[in-house]
Amino acid sequence: MAKVLCVLYPDPVDGYPKSYIRDSIPKIESYPGGQTVPNPKGIDFVPGELLGSVSGGLGLRKYLESLGHEFIVTSDKDGPNSVFEKELPDADVVISQPFWPAYLTPERIKKAKNLKLAITAGIGSDHVDIQAAIEAGITVAEITYSNSISVAEHVVMMILSLVRNYLPSHEWAVKGGWNIADCAVRAYDLEGMHVGTVAAGRIGLAVLRRLKPFDVHLHYTDTHRLPAEIERELGVTYHPDVYDMVPHCDVITINCPLHPSTEHLFNDRLFEKCKRGTFLVNTARGKICDRDALVRAVQSGKIAAYAGDVWFPQPPPADHPWRTMPYNGMTPHYSGTTLSAQARYAAGTREILECFFEGRPIREEYLIVKGGKLAGTGAHSYTVGSTTKGVEEALKSA
Ligand code: NDP
Repeated sequence: MAKVLCVLYPDPVDGYPKSYIRDSIPKIESYPGGQTVPNPKGIDFVPGELLGSVSGGLGLRKYLESLGHEFIVTSDKDGPNSVFEKELPDADVVISQPFWPAYLTPERIKKAKNLKLAITAGIGSDHVDIQAAIEAGITVAEITYSNSISVAEHVVMMILSLVRNYLPSHEWAVKGGWNIADCAVRAYDLEGMHVGTVAAGRIGLAVLRRLKPFDVHLHYTDTHRLPAEIERELGVTYHPDVYDMVPHCDVITINCPLHPSTEHLFNDRLFEKCKRGTFLVNTARGKICDRDALVRAVQSGKIAAYAGDVWFPQPPPADHPWRTMPYNGMTPHYSGTTLSAQARYAAGTREILECFFEGRPIREEYLIVKGGKLAGTGAHSYTVGSTTKGVEEALKSA
């Protein structure tokens, strides 16, 4: 029998919900491009329930325990005395969400002698040291597409929010003010602006499609070029690299995975190339931006405002400078864990577990690493290497 170790974020401060503000969520039948939604043999949850927190357990407990497996769920993930660190040495499967990542560093992978499968309940497996997973023969899989549209919606929300100066204006209303000039002095229309995405994968392309009706000029850069008919349909301009793209952009959105070629991609050198007053939205990964270079860019006005929901490490320390830097629209990492998204990635996690326990192949598009090399989506979008560096310090102090 297997030991499945699952790290999830803590329940709401007022306890696990007994009811929800809505009675149902829309049923999504398939994703853009035709990929099918997760199709496990069964689910033991009601779509729309909170599944990503400890008491939700991704709706997996009944299924796993009925097969006689041990299912441990914890939010205690950091530091040598954490439940995660203690339970890891004999775990067969680790499940973790990018929002509350159980960092699988090379040191932890070395201790996890039984580990065969690391599932990312969501998208983005950079919290697993890909190099170490390859060397240890661990399969890494994620639920491709499960929350790509959730994030694309968040990106559009944040672009409009920054360009139109929504957050400070809302604050004036809350504070009892009627300071129209203070609201308007930083507020613009998006119409006519040049908007560029770093990567036009599932999220990046969905952002381009959603922004097209706003009558903006669209730009993108990516390691693989989009088909010519999509470029024509969107009227989007391709740039061979990010240095070529950013000088044209009023708004930039980052939608690539974190891997060695994107770590600290946004640094002093790149910010120097940006137009003064660029709006920047990053829902991809915190480490794609150099933390202190971003603060300098916001303070100097190169970046007019910055928003996103991704940090490094997660959770970030209370004194992380992005919490308090001017003109930020930061949130905790939640764009991809709406109740709608949770239903899809919980079902996808169940599908992967069913494949694993029944000896059936995991879908190609879910694979990041398999058989000692990058596979599936991993082979297309990632490069081999380590991106968990620096997390050890954060883990020691936890
Ligand atoms: P996809 O795999 O569909 O797209 C990723 C795209 O990034 C691919 O088109 C890939 O190119 C491209 N890419 C990779 N490296 C580079 C690079 N160096 N420069 C330019 N483009 C590059 O994934 P999604 O769109 O679904 O997700 C993207 C990322 O968003 C995830 O990896 C994750 O980090 C983040 N994410 C965040 C969430 C949140 O809640 N905030 C939730 C979901 C995802 P190609 O494949 O053509 O080589």
